[in-house]
Amino acid sequence: METKEIEELIKAISKFPGLGPKSAKRIILKLINNKDEIMKPTINALVNVYKNISKCNYCGVLKSLKNECNGFSNCNYLQKKYSKICVVETIADQWSIESTNIYNGYFHILGGTISGSLDKSQKLLVDSLKDRVKKQNIEEVILATSATVEGQTTAYYIEETLKNMDIKISKLAQGLPVGGEIENLDDGTLFSAFKNRTQL
Ligand SMILES: [Zn+2]
Repeated sequence: METKEIEELIKAISKFPGLGPKSAKRIILKLINNKDEIMKPTINALVNVYKNISKCNYCGVLKSLKNECNGFSNCNYLQKKYSKICVVETIADQWSIESTNIYNGYFHILGGTISGSLDKSQKLLVDSLKDRVKKQNIEEVILATSATVEGQTTAYYIEETLKNMDIKISKLAQGLPVGGEIENLDDGTLFSAFKNRTQL
C-alpha cells in the first residue's frame, strides 16, 4: 500500500513516454533511496527547466530565458554564421539530426505538419522561416520533414513558399522508409539521407 504522495508521483511519472506504473515505481524507489545524489539534483534541474526554458516563437528551438529570442534581432542563432537552414517538424527531429553529426548549420523547427486543412499552416513557423532566409543570407534550405503524407505535404508547401527566393532547396534522399519519422530513424539511415539529399 503506497502513501498518497507516492501514488501521486507514480501517476505523474507513468505519463512519461515509454513508462508505465511499473517503471515509474522503479524510478521512484531509486529517487527515494538516493535523495541527495539523485533526487535533489533532479528536482533542481526540473525547476530550472520549468522556469527558464521555452520555445523560441521565431526559430522554434528551445531557448533559455536568458537568451530570449524575440524575433530576428534576438534569435539565439544569430551569433553563429551558417549558410544553411535545416527545416524539421519537431525538436526531437532536431536532436536526432544533431546526434548524427553530419549537419552543421541552423535549424528551423516548424512545430508540426500541415494536416488536411491549410489553416494549420498558419500556426507553423513558416513566415519566420521566410524571414530568416532573407535576413540571414541563407544559401540552402534543407527540408527534413518525415516521409509521411503530412510530412511530404508540408515539405511541398514550404518549397512553394520559398520558390521565388534565390536559394537552393533540397530534400532528404528517398532512402527514407515510407512513413518514416525523422525522430525514429537510426543514425546510419539519417546520415545517408542527408548526404544524398536531392535538390528540388
Ligand atoms: Zn530563435
